[in-house]
Amino acid sequence: MLVIGSGPGGQRAAIAAAKLGRRVAVVDRPDMIGGVSIHTGTIPSKTLREAVLYLTGLTQRDLYGQSYRVKEDITVADLISRTQHVVGREVDVIRSQLARNQVSFFSGTARFTDDHTVALREASGDERLLSAEHIVIATGTRPARPDSVAFDGRTIMDSDNVLTLERVPRSMVIVGAGVIGMEYASMFAALGSKVTVVEKRPGMLDMCDVEIVESLKYHLRDLAVTFRFSETVAAVERHARGTLTVLESGKKIPADAVMYSAGRQGLTDGLCLDKAGLSADARGRITVDEHYRTEVPHIYAVGDVIGYPALAATSMEQGRAAAYHACGEPVGRTHGLQPIGIYTIPEISFIGRTEDQLTEDRVPFEVGVSRYRELARGQIIGDSHGMLKLLVSPEDRTLLGVHCFGTGATELIHIGQSVMGCGGTVDYLVDAVFNYPTLAESYKVAALDATNRLRQIDRIGD
Ligand SMILES: Cc1cc2nc3c(=O)[nH]c(=O)nc-3n(C[C@H](O)[C@H](O)[C@H](O)COP(=O)(O)OP(=O)(O)OC[C@H]3O[C@@H](n4cnc5c(N)ncnc54)[C@H](O)[C@@H]3O)c2cc1C
Repeated sequence: MLVIGSGPGGQRAAIAAAKLGRRVAVVDRPDMIGGVSIHTGTIPSKTLREAVLYLTGLTQRDLYGQSYRVKEDITVADLISRTQHVVGREVDVIRSQLARNQVSFFSGTARFTDDHTVALREASGDERLLSAEHIVIATGTRPARPDSVAFDGRTIMDSDNVLTLERVPRSMVIVGAGVIGMEYASMFAALGSKVTVVEKRPGMLDMCDVEIVESLKYHLRDLAVTFRFSETVAAVERHARGTLTVLESGKKIPADAVMYSAGRQGLTDGLCLDKAGLSADARGRITVDEHYRTEVPHIYAVGDVIGYPALAATSMEQGRAAAYHACGEPVGRTHGLQPIGIYTIPEISFIGRTEDQLTEDRVPFEVGVSRYRELARGQIIGDSHGMLKLLVSPEDRTLLGVHCFGTGATELIHIGQSVMGCGGTVDYLVDAVFNYPTLAESYKVAALDATNRLRQIDRIGD
């Protein structure tokens, strides 16, 4: 098996195939081992967030007062040193995992010459041909850059450039209120930058629970974030003293820096897909079937290059599933239960459906809510805004959705995922004993809330 791209999708495909006894090679560009995930995406952005939370002391201010800081003047060097440390370690881990599993790594840029062969251009300019029975395309994406905007990577940036900023901007415009845009908006707002978010849609993160998105907006406004919804950027001007973002409505927003987060483009343009009998859509994405097979059945595609949900988490699983399928190994039931984690400040995570989706689908549900401020652990850590919401079926008492906001949301969600995945009911959570004091206890509190409401319906209805 030949895997193009060593991001989460490619790595997992390669290692899974190697474990199943196949001879496997991975190709990637020099210095990109681990993919976007390690170098410009998941890992650096989450490390940066951790550095921001620690150095600003933001999460401790409920306890020690609004002026609490671990460090007064936080520099880019303070933030980046942690990121570089983690990225270096992660690259080492991946190299070692590939080596331990006898996966060969070839450095260079690949393009198809036919449906079983890839030409690899090495840094020296030399080319070598690699052929394989199965090929997995895991080439990921790059930030989409509108042609009308003159990016310079320093004052007018995309999300890749954030990691090479020279200083923390005093003010910043973020164009696009998607996941990446809102994660960076949170981080810069926490650092004290005056952030304006411009979004052409009337709202943001519409896949999430409405109440949680409202809470996030409230928190970010509290950190001086301004939202400009239903607004389109007409032009971004660079001047000696900063940038002006001009909106179609006529407004002008001055800022030190502008970050565009306007979606991502599949990295397929240089792959010569046509040589393999394949094509990509206008956003560079490749279509696959439920086994991650392309139109050419021995060529698979996984990860961001196939589109939504475009997460490291899902890419890994797609890689494994593709390799298993290629090797004739049965793949477990991949139910549609994928957790979504959004590392805004505070963080959001959910699994299953939202109240709006259930209402639209005419599925009855009852709600159970737990607020961190009512939990001993919430008080101890100084998180008074966090919450967990369970959406419960009144018919069979199973969980239809779990929505979490606040400290540890992206970890806590997996309790809900396990209960849902195993077909458990709200009664399991009512009866379960949780360590105390923990945030996990919020499941029990929310379950009791939901069952009390269900009981009320039963009482009146009887
Ligand atoms: C700022 C940011 C934050 C994110 N945060 C999260 C998060 O918190 N959680 C989460 O789950 N996901 C997150 N993601 C998404 C996550 O990074 C991606 O879903 C994941 O990296 C996709 O993995 P992949 O396997 O598709 O490949 P990628 O990680 O995109 O890697 C693709 C690799 O293919 C290589 N490649 C491309 N073309 C060629 C070629 N022709 N020849 C050789 N090699 C090639 C590239 O060099 C690259 O190394 C984030 C993304 C960004 C940008």
